[in-house]
Amino acid sequence: MTRPALVAMILLIAALAGCSFEPEQEIWEIAGPVFGTEYHIKVVLTEDPEQLDTLATGITSVLESVDASMSTWREDSELSRFNRAEDQSRWFEISPPLYQVLTAAREVSELSDGAFDITVGPVVNLWGFGPEARPEQVPEAALLQQRLDGIGYEKLELRAEPPAIRADIKQYLDLSAIAKGYAVDAVAEYLLATGIEAYLVEIGGEVRVSGRKPGDEAWRLAIEEPVPGRREVNRVVALDSQAMATSGDYRNYYESAGQRFSHTIDPESGKPIAHNLASVTVIADTTMGADALATAFNVMGYERANELAIRKNMAVYFIIRQENGFEAHYTPAFSSYLAN
Ligand code: ADP
Ligand code: MG
Repeated sequence: MTRPALVAMILLIAALAGCSFEPEQEIWEIAGPVFGTEYHIKVVLTEDPEQLDTLATGITSVLESVDASMSTWREDSELSRFNRAEDQSRWFEISPPLYQVLTAAREVSELSDGAFDITVGPVVNLWGFGPEARPEQVPEAALLQQRLDGIGYEKLELRAEPPAIRADIKQYLDLSAIAKGYAVDAVAEYLLATGIEAYLVEIGGEVRVSGRKPGDEAWRLAIEEPVPGRREVNRVVALDSQAMATSGDYRNYYESAGQRFSHTIDPESGKPIAHNLASVTVIADTTMGADALATAFNVMGYERANELAIRKNMAVYFIIRQENGFEAHYTPAFSSYLAN
């Protein structure tokens, strides 16, 4: 996550035309840069939205506190301080939010049999996607194996009271695949606490919605066609009060010698994932869960991921790359959200 400029731009989005019952209800948008990406928040307000300024300030400070805790791009974050700690085998006290995210990360690691693993950071960096410099070529096999031998989520130990973490072998933790989702949940909770019940919170493609739009309409979200550089819709879903996250190899990757390297690493091989799964979209109760699960399923590949998702009754939408286009598959639990 890059350090955000954290200057909120307030954009007035045109009021929904023709909503007859409550004409004073409008959708307002608050947007800005964060974590090296952008946030877009829509709130449905009934009264004159003088509170927008206050809301924007509140949202900025929620995001700032997540960044100050969980960013690997900031040397002063809680996470970076743990990553730098001389002796990680001693309990390192952490804030309740960081504890919550680390606990959720462990659950997804266990569920996915290690496909999701926040200790994979040193390997991510070796392939050039983290705060370390981007390599010009594929890392050397011996160095890769050495980094791989030292990692593993099971080497982390968490303590609830007071919240703390430790690791027997020095680890470097990377929450990039879950922290954005957590931040969406944190903003959503902030909005609820201020009495706003209808909203859409989106950070870098991870979304959570609540309530309904003016005119009693459901929030509709697009699942993108997994093509770099263009924004096309593959499918539209309608949500009530759920979260949705997508993991795909079509946005963040780099090419070397004609080969595409994803920023998602398979912790088993230590290599960027390379299969025909172009994107995975998960709908769940929390954005944190959806975010981490989407990455986990992406690592697992279609067959394994689909089997697990069906067994756990999870709502998952897979887009598979074929020779001439894409093919979509979804689990039974996903079908009720489809809007087109
Ligand atoms: P996507 O939306 O494509 O899943 P995210 O930003 O959510 O992208 O997560 C990808 C980031 O997560 C990578 O840049 C890397 O920092 C980290 N990461 C890569 N592989 C894994 C993995 N197997 N488990 C957990 N985190 C990972
Ligand atoms: Mg993710």
